[in-house]
Amino acid sequence: MTANYTAQRVSVFQESVIREMTRLCGQYGGINLAQGFPDFDPPQELLEAAQRALGDGYNQYAITWGAPELRQALSEKLERYSGLRYDPDRHLTVTCGATEAMMATMLALVNPGEEVVVFEPFYENYGPDAALSGARLRYVTLDLSRPDFPYDPRELERAFSRSTKAIVVNTPHNPTGKVFSRAELEHIADLCRHYDALAVTDEVYEHIVYDGAQHVSLASLPGMAERTITISSMSKTYSVTGWRVGWAAVANDAVAQAIRKAHDFLTVGAAAPLQQAAVVALRFPDSYYRQMAQSYQRKRDLLLGALRELGFRPTVPRGAYYIMADFTGLSQEDDTAFALRLVREVGVATVPGSSFFHHPSLGRRYVRFAYPKREQTLEEAARRLARLGADR
Ligand code: GLN
Repeated sequence: MTANYTAQRVSVFQESVIREMTRLCGQYGGINLAQGFPDFDPPQELLEAAQRALGDGYNQYAITWGAPELRQALSEKLERYSGLRYDPDRHLTVTCGATEAMMATMLALVNPGEEVVVFEPFYENYGPDAALSGARLRYVTLDLSRPDFPYDPRELERAFSRSTKAIVVNTPHNPTGKVFSRAELEHIADLCRHYDALAVTDEVYEHIVYDGAQHVSLASLPGMAERTITISSMSKTYSVTGWRVGWAAVANDAVAQAIRKAHDFLTVGAAAPLQQAAVVALRFPDSYYRQMAQSYQRKRDLLLGALRELGFRPTVPRGAYYIMADFTGLSQEDDTAFALRLVREVGVATVPGSSFFHHPSLGRRYVRFAYPKREQTLEEAARRLARLGADR
């Protein structure tokens, strides 16, 4: 066969480096601090609810927009935690994870050539989301050398124009752990209103915040609920990344309907029994979220301490569960060579920093560590990483 059978729309991006590092990790028997997923079980109550749902006959398609009970529970939770009010019959769509919610949203709302603003570094899925929908990304830099990773307000203002269709706001942010402040979100909201642009938020780490940081939903700011598509999922909050249950919420009938159409023909719907189990999770008490955040804060501190001791210069996340670590004090290799050596020779998988930048050169000094892991896993990773120093 000589023809190139590959469509151009998939030729312009690479396979996910995050997922590739997970595969390499399996091959070398490493500890996976690459892809962000827990190595511990979700709450027992949730597992029992999923088993019950299988026995109770939830084995055929749920309604395409999501099981009614789940949309009801979601609207109650969104109101309780963010003060946002959505009509479960019109405004909420349950998807196969936040990943599908983001793709369905971009396909439904962005025309080829329209501009979408994104903060850099960014979670690698947004690149292919843009490529498949035809969006042109405009990048605004987060300053990794300063606490809380600020952006330059003038740079954001320059990125907006009459061609801007939307901005993607990921808070708490992957890979830096930045939690956007209310003042920053107000600035973003001003620009959205001024240019009549949409906002698409990825809030999958909404309950994982540290040091008293507060998560604010952009949609909760005045005039934003009808122009913000708020995306989140079960994965990180309830430690069920394999369930693939997420959602998109927007208080705007026409926008919600467009997303529902794209979603319907992409996947029909998320797994029906797991949607039933999700109802139980969404009704967990406040203490669940508090304890989870505290437990992640301990893991963060453990890994930060270990990385500093080993000679890395790590960023300090205020949310989410990733650390970008500058490794130039340890090695002159580029990020990919360093990450490959780590997984092959040391047995710890990380993600090369360049995966989070549109110009790979911007990420060359970093690797990303994910820490949703048991403390003993993090301690073993630290012991293995200590070999790096020993080899020097
Ligand atoms: N969000 C996770 C990460 O950045 C992984 C998500 C995924 O692989 N679907 O590692």
